[in-house]
Amino acid sequence: MRTQRRWFLKTGAAALAAGLLPLRIAPAQAAQASTATHWENWSGIVQCKAQALAQPADEGAVATLLAGASGAVRCVGAGHSFTPLVPTDGTLLSLDRVAGLLAHDKAALSATLHGGTRLAQVSAQLDSAGLALRNLPDINIQSLAGAISTATHGTGAELPAMHADVTALRIVTPQGELVDYDQLRHPDQLAAARVSLGALGVITRVTMNVVPAFNLRRKVWLAPVEEMLERAPELARTHRHFEFYYLPFTGYAAAITHIPFAGTEVAMPPSQDEDMLRDLRRLRDWLGSYPQLRRWSAAKLIDPSLTEHATNRSWLLLSNTRPTRFNETECHVPRDAGIACVRDVIRTLEKRNEVFFPLEFRFVKGDDAWLSPFYKRDSCSIAVHAAQGEPYAYLMSEIGPVFRKYQGRPHWGKLHNFSTAELAALYPRFKDFLELRRSLDPRGRMLNPHLRTLFGVAT
Ligand SMILES: Cc1cc2nc3c(=O)[nH]c(=O)nc-3n(C[C@H](O)[C@H](O)[C@H](O)COP(=O)(O)OP(=O)(O)OC[C@H]3O[C@@H](n4cnc5c(N)ncnc54)[C@H](O)[C@@H]3O)c2cc1C
Repeated sequence: MRTQRRWFLKTGAAALAAGLLPLRIAPAQAAQASTATHWENWSGIVQCKAQALAQPADEGAVATLLAGASGAVRCVGAGHSFTPLVPTDGTLLSLDRVAGLLAHDKAALSATLHGGTRLAQVSAQLDSAGLALRNLPDINIQSLAGAISTATHGTGAELPAMHADVTALRIVTPQGELVDYDQLRHPDQLAAARVSLGALGVITRVTMNVVPAFNLRRKVWLAPVEEMLERAPELARTHRHFEFYYLPFTGYAAAITHIPFAGTEVAMPPSQDEDMLRDLRRLRDWLGSYPQLRRWSAAKLIDPSLTEHATNRSWLLLSNTRPTRFNETECHVPRDAGIACVRDVIRTLEKRNEVFFPLEFRFVKGDDAWLSPFYKRDSCSIAVHAAQGEPYAYLMSEIGPVFRKYQGRPHWGKLHNFSTAELAALYPRFKDFLELRRSLDPRGRMLNPHLRTLFGVAT
């Protein structure tokens, strides 16, 4: 979210309300810990005690490790998935030391990077070479291999998720062999490995289509949610990137557009996202038990008249960090069902008075990776968040059924409880993926309990 507080609450309104109403203290944030044996994800809800944390220095060392390891091996990137994809009681394998831009070809618009490269480093190094990724997710902390492995995406009606730009991968197989999959010689293996949840082997190199470095102009504004829902398809058609955030119990949504910008000047007002989140949380804390009064107060306090403009390099505008931690679910529904589904999600969400975190609505172009939630389907993505330390089970038990009604396919890295049978029905190449996985890793050395459940593999 990139809205500014001054648009959200009129000056002084928050302070006035704070004086009138008691402030509930927010729970303290848990620190992220990662040692040789104890690991936990970004939000702290997924943990494990691994036998070892291996950080090999190069591809050869990755191969030696896999050939020699006796137990299970699971890759970890930045630990930014909310589902238990990473945990193992065997070896956790991090490619933090196998990172960086290996080669680029400006004429062919192609670049090869190590799998452990964090997205911020990917963008900075490509920028130095006059290149950029076509699109990016909201944050830039993920590893490249971790991001593509769960089908991480940004927003843009004509822009697919990151893995769609992958043209070749180098993988260290569970047996410790280095194999290169490319589009021409191994279309099936590549289509499976692009989104593979760390189940086919360790991705050490990624070759991607890139674009010349480019600048964007961002505009952010607030509008009544009904108006936003009405205009969203047209805004998505007419802007390279469009998304909106619905601000629960306010009746307002924040629109964000990015369009290509030919100029070079940088105008970046400081982000005040955190202030806005704090205001939303305060409104909830003060008036959560009185939803009508909360809506009435929001309508009085919100100042929708101002807009924000920013210009900068594409990667500096599209992706940043999220200091306030949360848990999240996200599903991708057919494009035509997006608005009906988000209406339904909002109705369901607002049955819970404790909700305050904005809901995110994005557009993603279809692709053909076997486990891509966007497989042969242009989609709308709907993401629902719960603040760290607050209840989140309802994201699956109450929001999950709404997603299912609209044929939603879950984001692999975000909370969901879809069964093997449901996944097989939603992902046309699911069974092909399972077969390929079995042939590459018959002993299931790259699996963990979560993947065994998803894939229907006995323990
Ligand atoms: C604050 C926040 C914002 C987010 N924003 C977005 C967003 O805008 N869009 C979006 O789509 N998602 C978003 N996500 C989800 C996130 O992008 C994905 O969960 C992503 O997979 C995390 O990358 P990671 O490097 O942390 O991987 P991890 O979570 O560590 O691992 C993810 C998967 O990748 C595998 N993996 C990691 N490295 C390798 C490797 N070298 N070889 C093979 N497999 C590997 C792991 O085994 C695991 O299965 C967000 C998450 C957070 C916490």
